[in-house]
Amino acid sequence: MTNWKELDKTYVANTYARFPVEIVSGKGSLLYDADGKEYIDLGSGIGVTAFGIDDAQWKAAVISQLDAVQHTSNLYYTHPCVRLAQLLCERTGMKRVFFSNSGAESNECAIKVARKYAAQKRGPQYSTIVTLCNSFHGRTLTTLAATGQAHFHELFQPLTPGFVHTPANDLQQLIATVEAHPTAAILMECIQGEGGVIPLDADFVHGVAQYAAEHDILLMIDEVQTGNGRTGKLYAYMNYGITPDVVSTAKGLGGGLPLGATLMGEKVADVLCAGDHGSTFGGNPVCCAGAISVINRIDDAFLGDVCSKSAYIFNALKDARGVESVTGMGLMIGIKTTRPAKDVVNDCIAKGVLCLTAKDKIRLLPALNIPMPQLEKAIGILRAAISA
Ligand SMILES: *Cc1c(COP(=O)(O)O)cnc(C)c1O
Repeated sequence: MTNWKELDKTYVANTYARFPVEIVSGKGSLLYDADGKEYIDLGSGIGVTAFGIDDAQWKAAVISQLDAVQHTSNLYYTHPCVRLAQLLCERTGMKRVFFSNSGAESNECAIKVARKYAAQKRGPQYSTIVTLCNSFHGRTLTTLAATGQAHFHELFQPLTPGFVHTPANDLQQLIATVEAHPTAAILMECIQGEGGVIPLDADFVHGVAQYAAEHDILLMIDEVQTGNGRTGKLYAYMNYGITPDVVSTAKGLGGGLPLGATLMGEKVADVLCAGDHGSTFGGNPVCCAGAISVINRIDDAFLGDVCSKSAYIFNALKDARGVESVTGMGLMIGIKTTRPAKDVVNDCIAKGVLCLTAKDKIRLLPALNIPMPQLEKAIGILRAAISA
């Protein structure tokens, strides 16, 4: 019998502390291992499989594009890429979209847009990007520099210069930081995902948006994790009623295929010109066809469902034994527990439920269409593990 765990350890870079689960198939929010053991999935591949595994509509869209053409390069026009860009602009009011393959790349593009906009408008020294402490923006050397968590930086110096971090929810400190540096843009997550599922205060977000607009500093929102229906709106910034200049997204957008998008608003729509940026795989027609089916299904009625499932989870957990706090929005939820999160997650695995962690919390990012009976069963098992 093949020992997959040993082979993985031998041949795959040891960058992941994997849980002892080998997944071979799935359907919707159910996953199966080689022995046929069933798991209810509350992680959806870290917020990626927005409509679960092997979803009929998503698969039909992907397969029909696979039958037509799977890749052309960006030297030629393809319909799914254009239609998805139009759809994203119509749904957000943004003006143009650059497609890439991941969250980190979508932030890289945002940073390039900010640097070029500020360089042309105010001079090349206006290059600083201000981000928040405890943020997460990706693993490339530039998006690591943007990430406001020092432990990710150790041993990878020098990182890309031109990033400074300021505490979340402290507007005065943010303004002081911006004024102390020649700043091009502020980049932030509305809910810090990897940082522990912590939503920003509405007052702070409004204050940052107003200050940025008044000083012609770009407001860039990282919606890689929060985007595409995850928080009960199409994008999390819509919960705050702000209008960002740039929005980066990925994870759930492709429904399980790699796709990143950087949405550019009015101010920056014309910043990138031919040759300024590019990606061989970006805007791949198969990925875009899947994403069109994902975005088209996230309408108001569907988002209402996301919100009621969210309310169910909050109600089931907020006063449960062993729960210290429940934070988040929509189906992006962080749970601080008395027991160590890792122990809770391992007990859940034994009982057939998969959940994630973020820092010292349990993190839930279920498929947006998880059926209520499966959600109820999984939350019951999670509650039991938390109170054990
Ligand atoms: C996951 C994540 C990223 C990085 O995305 P990758 O696709 O892994 O490059 C960036 N920002 C946020 C907020 C994320 O959650």
